[in-house]
Amino acid sequence: MNKRKLTALILSALMLAAMTAGCKKEPQPSETAITSESAPSAIQTTEATTETTPLVTYSAEEYSAAGVNELNSVPILMYHRIYDMRNDETEYTGGNVDIDGYNRTSEAFEADLRSYYSQGYRMMRLSDFVDGNIDVAFGYSPVILTFDDGIRDVVLEGWNEDGTPIFDPTCAIGILEKIKAEYPDYNVTATFFVNSSLFGNGEEDDRRVMQWMVDNGYDIGNHTRDHVKLGGCTAEEIEMQVGAMYKILEDIIPGQYVNIVALPFGSPESITDETPQYRKIFEGTYDGFSYTSRASLLCAWTRAYSPFVRDYDYTAIRRIRGYDHNGTDFDIEDNFNQLNNGRRYISDGNPDTIVFPASDNSSGDWLKDTYGHQVITY
Ligand SMILES: [Zn+2]
Repeated sequence: MNKRKLTALILSALMLAAMTAGCKKEPQPSETAITSESAPSAIQTTEATTETTPLVTYSAEEYSAAGVNELNSVPILMYHRIYDMRNDETEYTGGNVDIDGYNRTSEAFEADLRSYYSQGYRMMRLSDFVDGNIDVAFGYSPVILTFDDGIRDVVLEGWNEDGTPIFDPTCAIGILEKIKAEYPDYNVTATFFVNSSLFGNGEEDDRRVMQWMVDNGYDIGNHTRDHVKLGGCTAEEIEMQVGAMYKILEDIIPGQYVNIVALPFGSPESITDETPQYRKIFEGTYDGFSYTSRASLLCAWTRAYSPFVRDYDYTAIRRIRGYDHNGTDFDIEDNFNQLNNGRRYISDGNPDTIVFPASDNSSGDWLKDTYGHQVITY
């Protein structure tokens, strides 16, 4: 094999939009991609792609060797409380603190983080994922951490003289900070979804802690004011639960929280024409305060679709429950085994391009939304 530069088809967002916007018989990307015979020079661009940044920095062979595939899936972990316990101190499997594994030992959580790193995963912000902005080094895969409920996630022990917080080293953020110091290229970050009780450190301390968090690379999102199951609620109840929580966040960290809702109990699982009230999760007004949400998260079981593919649904983003079940039943190990067995998103290192094997879009409609990025197939 000679190492000729990539014979890639680059579609501008415009061109793709034209192709997917209702024309039935347009050529599909995969049908026109990769014909090395007929494409002597590296790339084809359309007039709409006038950016000056270099588009193709790798050959098809290099993409293939690294398994680059940005239509594959991303693990979004759902954690709850992290307890100061060793695994052998619990009655349950692995690092589970309760029978269902919603809460995790500090020993297991730290081991999880080291495991994701060693398997070639690097962290990124959930909000960037929702924006289709996936900035992970070439050949690596994104992993996203989320925490629901706030309890035992950020346990404050006091304040240093310079105003920085002292965390319990066994709570979630204590362990995250330790790992952050150890692995500078891990890009440690997480999104914490809170209720009106916040992190339980008392309002004054929580206000200071939350400001420190958003200033130090962590995100805070909406888990409803009272941890209410929104499925079954009226429009007004939803506006109150979602709107009041946004209002609290706006008061504490104005404009610095993420407009994403982690749905308590993963409910509702879907929004249909019969349930228009659930649209209030995404747009509403409470007590004179208007809000919008960009996405909502389900409760866990499995990997999330890439935001670029047809089955991705920003109203029902899937997560993986951070628990142990001997490598079965969609526990962490089971999910990562599935991901590592050909299902994982592997980055091309450039957030402005979407790269994947042409065969992965052979149906022509698996790639659905480019978020304005350029598309390269190999
Ligand atoms: Zn919850």
